[in-house]
Amino acid sequence: MTPTVSKSRRSRLCLAPCLALGLAAGVAGSPAGAADTLPPSGQPAAGPEAEASFFLLKGKPVQGGLMRGAAPVGATVTLDGFAIPTTQDGNFVFGFDRDFAGSATLDVTLADGRTQSRVLAVEPRDYDIQRIDGLPPAMVTPPDAETLARIQRESAIKAAARPKDSPLTAFTESFVWPVLGPITGTYGSQRILNGEPRRPHYGVDIAAPRGTPVKAPAGGVVTLAEPDMYYEGGLIFVDHGHGLIGVFMHLDEVTVAVGDRITQGDVIGKVGSAGRSTGAHLDWRMYWRAAHIDPTLLVPPMEDVLAAADSAAPDAPDAPIAQ
Ligand SMILES: [Zn+2]
Repeated sequence: MTPTVSKSRRSRLCLAPCLALGLAAGVAGSPAGAADTLPPSGQPAAGPEAEASFFLLKGKPVQGGLMRGAAPVGATVTLDGFAIPTTQDGNFVFGFDRDFAGSATLDVTLADGRTQSRVLAVEPRDYDIQRIDGLPPAMVTPPDAETLARIQRESAIKAAARPKDSPLTAFTESFVWPVLGPITGTYGSQRILNGEPRRPHYGVDIAAPRGTPVKAPAGGVVTLAEPDMYYEGGLIFVDHGHGLIGVFMHLDEVTVAVGDRITQGDVIGKVGSAGRSTGAHLDWRMYWRAAHIDPTLLVPPMEDVLAAADSAAPDAPDAPIAQ
């Protein structure tokens, strides 16, 4: 029997909630304006907005989205009543999981007791859902006992390498792509095989030749550096601080060690196809606490970066041609 493949996108209701969302997103974006980095002091920008809001918020409240903010020094921040730690400068971060539904309330309270709240209506997204029906039932062989033990051992290692809310502040940086290349897999995509939903894909896949250096998209400390994991092959976790962890999978080579302090642009490993992978690529993921974050929301669109890299190349078409 030939498997049938169909693609569907989740239907989306867009009436009053979307209007509310538009407002929330507008408010969230306006104090920071087009600024790409948070002010180091954590002080709100001067001007009319400074009176309206005493904190900045950057990012879009959307499923898989990361929000970064800056409050006055000494302020306390909560999200739906749960404490969000701030840095000494008043910076903070939080994010929304793939299937987060509804809204979240951010409260910022100054040392003098004044509080401002913002309701963040989290925008739902359409994910690539691929249905494949008519597959022979036992296409995926269950792992043997030895492999199963290995998988369990490795998942304990991974869980231990995700520290909660470290005081590192690299999460405030402007992130860059760890590797450049065509995007071959997207955040949130999911396959439904014979009606059974599989675990969603939580990373972005970037195709690149084997051996391509993988650069740290932001600074941090390495909390996991494993050369050979069953699923992920060469695997690195980088703690960017305050619960934000970057994950780099299928590496041929891991060139950092646990405890290494890295800065943006440092080479941490090399692209490969190690683990359960079908071709050389980097799978880049990100967590904020338990929430899976879409890394692509933190960097410029890949096509823009590739186009800029192209036009900056020395062999541009207007280069003189030897006769
Ligand atoms: Zn992937």
